[in-house]
Amino acid sequence: MSIRYEAERSDVAAAARTMLETGLVVNTSGNVSVRIGEHVAITPSGCPYEDLAPSDIVVLDLDGKPVDGDLVPSSETPLHLSLYKGDESIGAIVHTHSVYATAVSTLVDTLPAIHYQIADLGGPVPVAPYRTFGTPELAAVVSDAMKGRHAALMQNHGAVTVGDTVDQALSRCITLEWLSRVYLIAQQNGTPSLIDDEELERVKAQQKKFRGEQKKRLRNRK
Ligand SMILES: [Zn+2]
Repeated sequence: MSIRYEAERSDVAAAARTMLETGLVVNTSGNVSVRIGEHVAITPSGCPYEDLAPSDIVVLDLDGKPVDGDLVPSSETPLHLSLYKGDESIGAIVHTHSVYATAVSTLVDTLPAIHYQIADLGGPVPVAPYRTFGTPELAAVVSDAMKGRHAALMQNHGAVTVGDTVDQALSRCITLEWLSRVYLIAQQNGTPSLIDDEELERVKAQQKKFRGEQKKRLRNRK
């Protein structure tokens, strides 16, 4: 029997498994969601990721009212809904407690531009101040930090990234974890040099150019 939003819920379950396999999450920490029009499909609270079936993914409306699925949605549902409501362009959200990003969240107010790939996250990554998990207060400070960015760190908690698609949000989470690792190693050995805003704008233009060209060529293959 087919279920409502089966393709999107399969994508969410697959992304959750990738998070586990890539070491971005351990046990059931972290969560992932996609927007489907006025609805959101999100991982359930406290379920092992390796066993997730599409029907385990919970569907809610943007006010958190249940639409489909019988499990309790992720404890960070308020955070996901707040981000979707605040920015119509967001199509997917990934949240993790990945090791290096969480470590950096305890040390600085902003992850600085130590590598040009930070441009894909919108520039230096802000650290939202600590608030209790699952609360509207946490949702508010993270939504605030995310303005004009595709990523934020959450102090003493973890990382959150957004994208047009779940693949893009996941890819940004992997980039953020890698950048955090590079930052920690660099600053243990001295004072890292940084890339300025003007150069980051040039990087963004370059990234756009190469991605646009590749998309064109991939389309031509079909
Ligand atoms: Zn969390």
